Amino acid sequence: MDKFKDECGVFGIFGHPEAANMTYLGLYALQHRGQESAGIASSDSQQIRVSKAMGYVAETFDSGELSRLPGTLAIGHVRYSTAGESKLSNAQPILIDCAHGQIAICHNGNLVNAGELRDELVHQGSIFQSSSDTEVVLHLYARSKAGSIEDAVVESVSQVQGAFSFLMLSKDRLIAVRDPHGFRPLALGRLDDAYVVCSETCAMDLIGATYIRDVEPGEVLVVSADGLRSFKPFPSAPLAHCVFEHVYFARPDSYVYGKSVNEVRTNLGRILAREQPVDADVVVPVPDSGVCAAMGFAEESGIPLRMGLIRNHYVGRTFIQPQSSIRHFGVKVKLNPVRSILDGRRVILVDDSIVRGTTSRKIVRMVRAAGAKEVHVRISCPPTISPCFYGVDTPSRSELIAATHTIDEITEYLEADTVAYLSLEGLLSAVGEERQNYCSSCYTGQYPVEFPRDQKSYLQLALKLDKEPVTN
Ligand code: SF4
Repeated sequence: MDKFKDECGVFGIFGHPEAANMTYLGLYALQHRGQESAGIASSDSQQIRVSKAMGYVAETFDSGELSRLPGTLAIGHVRYSTAGESKLSNAQPILIDCAHGQIAICHNGNLVNAGELRDELVHQGSIFQSSSDTEVVLHLYARSKAGSIEDAVVESVSQVQGAFSFLMLSKDRLIAVRDPHGFRPLALGRLDDAYVVCSETCAMDLIGATYIRDVEPGEVLVVSADGLRSFKPFPSAPLAHCVFEHVYFARPDSYVYGKSVNEVRTNLGRILAREQPVDADVVVPVPDSGVCAAMGFAEESGIPLRMGLIRNHYVGRTFIQPQSSIRHFGVKVKLNPVRSILDGRRVILVDDSIVRGTTSRKIVRMVRAAGAKEVHVRISCPPTISPCFYGVDTPSRSELIAATHTIDEITEYLEADTVAYLSLEGLLSAVGEERQNYCSSCYTGQYPVEFPRDQKSYLQLALKLDKEPVTN
């Protein structure tokens, strides 16, 4: 499907006799955040062991593999590659042994100065095992002369910029670090005597843990036998929570940034219905991502919601393409129209976003082929005009249909009767009073974290922006 690609999901637990099993379950609940690789590192206080592989969580671990991960503390990761290629050496957690002892790390986010730091480190003799930006932090950590693990963590993390929710595991403690902007979510919870830290609260729900609070932007949280210790060693910065977590990434049953994703997402649909009304017979979501917004749209407009597109939930990562070309095969494998709902109707098709427009066009055609008289596309976020550099995989600006086409041109390309987006004002009003705390760079092209402009890493970013200057 033509979507921004999910980033990564992290899960950590301290003080549980089945730490690796709990982490497996937590990652299972976070699978939507990354499907390329999965990994778990656990510690029995003597040794950290790691297991990781390409593929889904359920494919990667069985009970035998989990039994080889003993101990009461563990961290885990599901990955979609945002920096670095999709290969096993880039899977996380990454485990090293250095002067501070063993440490494992996993990361959700993207470090905008990783390229320049890496060049410096390589110049000084460091040997990298992966192309992941996260490994830079481990090199900085290993080189730190600080007297404690916590100080070495702070010294290394202070040198990186961008988006990071890190979980680190030493032999006897779990350390969570969130960047001062708070780009990516990270929540703290409790399961009996154990502490849990994870990307989304849906992972806590699965294992019966209770949400306590978010790890705060700029906070370093150390969980050890002495309990919780929290400190804020980094200079404070303007908050920039990723608003796209609410639009698309996070599961609707999660709370992120302290808000119910379902409530915000449904609200996006309500506001969209007020901003972009249209006379029609039926509201149809593009499943699954458009469902909450479509419910809000239907509720607000009074037009009935019908599941006019059915999603096949059993499509794996790969399927065998038939030799003969079946029209729209790729989309048909995932979605099928319900003729009895669509035939002869004026349809409002609600989706969360349009990236390139290729899939949306196929869906519009599919709905028309099932007999729809009119197709009105309504999108529950503003036009996506700029790439993300904070942990979300996006195409370059020239591939984003809204960056290169007017609304009329998009309507024509999608072969829709009308196309309309939610306004930026509408999006930000849906998150409520904390609207100034959100990043919305992919809708504005205004970036809250400055890039190292004259460095190679900036040039790489500029290539993604098709060599246009970045506006900070
Ligand atoms: S640019 Fe968009 S996707 Fe990236 S962090 Fe900001 S809001 Fe999220």
